[in-house]
Amino acid sequence: MNLFVLGTGHAFAEDIYNTCFCLQNGNDFMLVDAGGGREILKQLDLSLIDLNMINYAFISHTHTDHLLGFAWVIRKIVQSYISKERTLSFTIYGNAECINAIHHLSLSILGEKIFNTYFEKFIKLEEVKADERKNIMNLNFNFFDVLDPDLTQFGFEIEEYKFVFAGDIPLNKCYYDRFKNCRYICLEAFCAESDKEGKEAQLKKHKTVHEASVAANKLNAENVIIWHTENCEFRKVKYSLEAKKSYKGNIIIPDDLELIYIEKFDENE
Ligand SMILES: [Zn+2]
Repeated sequence: MNLFVLGTGHAFAEDIYNTCFCLQNGNDFMLVDAGGGREILKQLDLSLIDLNMINYAFISHTHTDHLLGFAWVIRKIVQSYISKERTLSFTIYGNAECINAIHHLSLSILGEKIFNTYFEKFIKLEEVKADERKNIMNLNFNFFDVLDPDLTQFGFEIEEYKFVFAGDIPLNKCYYDRFKNCRYICLEAFCAESDKEGKEAQLKKHKTVHEASVAANKLNAENVIIWHTENCEFRKVKYSLEAKKSYKGNIIIPDDLELIYIEKFDENE
């Protein structure tokens, strides 16, 4: 499975795009969150992903930096249906709040007539519940509520890859048993421990790289992907060195537009 990193920044990070990515399994593509703006189209272009190849999407929660890119994605997809460049359906999964937000956003930007022509028939909005298991792209997704105190936010696990996406808040301790020994854990970190001074407000909700690494180590995860961070000089090296102190697995600090190959979990290993 390929993971195309489209963005790695937090909501207000400058010069890097908001954290979002695209998964590819065979001929299937799933966009996971869309960042906060039109730059999503550029990031897809630069990743050599044709939007018309993407058949699925997942939205974790309705914050600006995850939701608003969908306005551009949907606008462009509808344009491709109109010009008959696209025939592939597009299914967006998300919790009830997310589905409701995408519905209203799409209706506002497209108008009722176009919305009614293309939604349901070509663009499908599919609500998922916490702890629901769904087969998408021939993979088993288990959705879970990350227990965000501010709104409903979901993450997911892909069973075949033991790949866990935990959204943009720290992984709640109640999930440590469930995701113990996972192969990949995607965690957020706002900044390096050494840069945390003056960032107390953001760190009420977010963690440092050090704290994320301690969590990954407790999980005994084979690989940790750390993103949703601020942009700083030498970020990759700086965060890797910090993570190495408390985490014994493989550290992945991606930059925007990186491609990560996700290895399949083999039970006979
Ligand atoms: Zn975010």
